[in-house]
Amino acid sequence: MLSSEELEKLRRAGRVSGEARELGMSLVVEGAKLYDVAQEVEGYIRDHGCGLAFPCNISRNEIAAHYTPTSTDETRFEVGDVVKIDCGAELDGYVGDTAGTVEVGTKRYTALVEASKRARNTVAEFIGDGVTLGEIGRAVEMSMKRDGFVPIENLCGHQIERYNLHAGMSVPSYDSGSTEVIKAGMTVAIEPFATDGRGYVNNGKFGNIVRIARDKKLSDPKAQEFLDYVKGEFHEFPFCARSCQFPDAEKYVKTLMRHGVLAGYATLVEAGGGIVSQHEYTFYIDGHRGEVTTLP
Ligand code: MN
Ligand code: MN
Repeated sequence: MLSSEELEKLRRAGRVSGEARELGMSLVVEGAKLYDVAQEVEGYIRDHGCGLAFPCNISRNEIAAHYTPTSTDETRFEVGDVVKIDCGAELDGYVGDTAGTVEVGTKRYTALVEASKRARNTVAEFIGDGVTLGEIGRAVEMSMKRDGFVPIENLCGHQIERYNLHAGMSVPSYDSGSTEVIKAGMTVAIEPFATDGRGYVNNGKFGNIVRIARDKKLSDPKAQEFLDYVKGEFHEFPFCARSCQFPDAEKYVKTLMRHGVLAGYATLVEAGGGIVSQHEYTFYIDGHRGEVTTLP
């Protein structure tokens, strides 16, 4: 179990993450730039005393996750876009990870958007100490099928530990039969993705998000300075050049990727070109039930 001081940090990071999510979702309107929304969301997190647990992901339509705009991205939201805002704040390594979906200007995908929300909320009603991963997966799958959609089965919820966004167990979105149990004291993100497509994702293009893959001494002192900045600012968390307050960050990210110090994340694209919705909360398992830390 976390001490009350640790729990206070987890709750604060969670609350800021949830507020940033709501802010981001409110800014997703026709004609707004993805870049501006990402900057607003991350600015909110930093202005509220937290660090970024990862860049604000803004993934549209058949892209399920792992896209963040660069600082030169001119893309704007269009009517009919189904937009996932996935953001996270960290405070002393304690993380809130949360997401929501907005449809821009139309109501064609209301049922799809509601399907991932309902699946997540269904899990929220019973997640707690002793619940198995299979039970959670089955609840997600059944809820989505009742709503006429399928879960994306190769995208999972996950345990979170201090300074480790994807730690330990993965939580399935289908009935995997797993008897592994959620335990009191754990922090767990539940993030079902619903689609009208095939129900799995493939890797797409690079989505501008990177992480440190292999820490090593660099011969270029300026590149080393950049790497030291990244470690101080983002720790072990994923990040992107846009979020770096460091001159020529884009250039150094490319250099460090070439040297194998940084690895890039691919966007995750629905295999059948289906539209994707996602809703995510982080829970702290406080005894027999789970508390939503990221603003219910
Ligand atoms: Mn997330
Ligand atoms: Mn997550």
